[in-house]
Parts: sequence; structure tokens; C-alpha cells
Amino acid sequence: MTTPYLEVRDLQTHFTTFGGSRVVKAVDGISFSLREGETLGLVGESGCGKTTTCLSIVGLLPPAARIAGGEIRLAGEDLTKKSPREMRRIRGRKIAMILQDPMASLNPLFNIYTQVSEPAYYHLGIRRQSLRRRVEDLLRSVRIPSPAMRMRNYPHQMSGGMRQRIVGAIALAGGPKLIIADEPTTNLDVTIQAQYLDLLKDIQQETGVAIIFVTHNLGIVAKMCDRMAVMYAGKIVECGSVRDLFGAPSHPYTKALLGSMAKLGSKEPLFAIPGQPPDLANLPPGCAFHPRCAEATQHCSEHEPKIVPCGQDWTAKCWLAHPKESLRHDHARA
Ligand code: SF4
Repeated sequence: MTTPYLEVRDLQTHFTTFGGSRVVKAVDGISFSLREGETLGLVGESGCGKTTTCLSIVGLLPPAARIAGGEIRLAGEDLTKKSPREMRRIRGRKIAMILQDPMASLNPLFNIYTQVSEPAYYHLGIRRQSLRRRVEDLLRSVRIPSPAMRMRNYPHQMSGGMRQRIVGAIALAGGPKLIIADEPTTNLDVTIQAQYLDLLKDIQQETGVAIIFVTHNLGIVAKMCDRMAVMYAGKIVECGSVRDLFGAPSHPYTKALLGSMAKLGSKEPLFAIPGQPPDLANLPPGCAFHPRCAEATQHCSEHEPKIVPCGQDWTAKCWLAHPKESLRHDHARA
């Protein structure tokens, strides 16, 4: 088995609010790993800590946030120990990020050539004609027609789908081994979305890049990912292969997310998870999911479950998955 390219160990990212009087644990002790060429889906409702996890990895946290503990090891180097200057050299060269809104990533004042060439110029030292050829190749690889002509265009002269593909070309320009794609298809219509996902898959097969796919769309996870980590209230509550988690999920939250997926041809009303995600500054005692969990007991509302293995490379944070039969019985009796 190959060594993971990315290893996140017990990562804690906290926000300080109200002049320092309150600490919000947006990411609270999560661990996961990713090998080269692998795709991990990071899923969960809005506000569960997915984006904060990604921003922690790329070192782009807002001023109110800080990494309070843990390690982020990229090819063996701990990114939490890097200076902002060192992180600037790592971003684009080793890790790239694709954001939800391409217009937020593209500068309307610069043409496509300038924006796609910058990472290759800065990180790889490519110049002049070689740089032009590199940009043309990158645009071709993300299926932009007539790349030599299109590189002279500005973002406003392109469709939404083309802009998102340009963002993909910028992400690939520095030759990273890890791409973090944060809801990259949310603003695309369904047919363009499918084409974009196919494109990412093709690029991954050609380059061997690892991808973290942040989404709340489990259909995309099923299509794109090898493994998935389900986040709730800043913690990973279940992590394993897509096949295992879709086949027989262990955690009631994973079951509820899967149950709320639209099914082709079904006339049943869509299932909605009752209640709202908790306020991270004021979490309920015990298991944070217990106020919304169909299988919760008194025991869950008083004691926080630990992460336990429930299969090969598969863990869950739930009393129901606890290997000690007595604890599962406690749960059943409570
Ligand atoms: Fe539900 Fe209890 Fe498991 Fe939490 S520990 S998910 S409340 S069954």
C-alpha cells in the first residue's frame, strides 16, 4: 500500500468571535488521508466544517481563524509549521484549489493567457514560447476550443462552463499533486456539470492528481470519489470507501443523508433530516447529532461516542458502531 500524499491528523481549527470572548471549534479533531490518484469526497450540510478544513490545508484561513492543533502532512512535510511565504510556494505548485464561483477566482482585468500562464511562470520557471505552448496545451486539456485564439479573451467573453474549465486550467498550470475542489459544479447547469465531472476524471487519469471533492451532492460523490468522509458539527462522523458507505452506512447521519437523495422514478416525497445543524458555539452535550437522530437514546445525549473501526479502512463515531457489545447493549437498553 502506498504512503498517503496528504495526511491530516487531529486537525483543530478555531474561530475567535466577539472580541476574543468566544471560541468556535469549526474543525474539531479530524483525521483523514489521501493517496496519489485517489478522490475523497468531503460531505455534510452547510456549516459542518468542510470549507474550513480545505482552507486550513491551503493556508488561506480568514484572520479570525487559527489552527489550534494537529498536523497537515503533505508528502511528509507539516504545513501547519510553514510560514506564509513558504505556503505561497506550495499553493499552486503542490496543492491547487478550485472554488465554487469561477468569477471569484478569475480577474476580470486580465486575459486568459495572463491568468493561466502565471502559475507556470512563477512555480515552474517556464518562459516565452514554451509558456505560450504550455497555456495552449492546458486550455486544450480542459477542452477549450481554439485555444490560441481563446487565450486572448477576457473572462466576461466566456460562458459559465468555459470559465470553470479555465479555473481548472489555472489549477493544473503549476503541476500540483493535490487539487481541492470546493463545490466546483454548483453554479453549472446539469449537462455542463456532467461534462465538467467527466473532464476532471480524465485529467485525474492522465496526471494521477489526488482530489478532495467538497460537496453536499451525494450523486457526485458516487460518480467521482473512491472514499468519503462525512462531517457533522466540525467532526468526521463516518469515513470509508464509497462502496461501503453507500452499501451499508453505519452512522445514522450518513443514513439520513443517503435517505434524502432524490431517487429516479420514485413518487415518494423527499426525506428531510429533521431539525437544523447545531450552533458550533453552543453544541449539545453527548453526541452532537442526538437532537436530530432517529436512533438516539438517553446514553447518546450524555456521552460523546469515540471514533471506532467498523470495517477495513472504515470508521464511525456512533455508539451503535461500538465494538464493545456491552456498550451497544447500554445504548439499546437506555
Ligand atoms: Fe445517533 Fe446515538 Fe449514534 Fe449519535 S451516538 S448518531 S445520537 S445513535
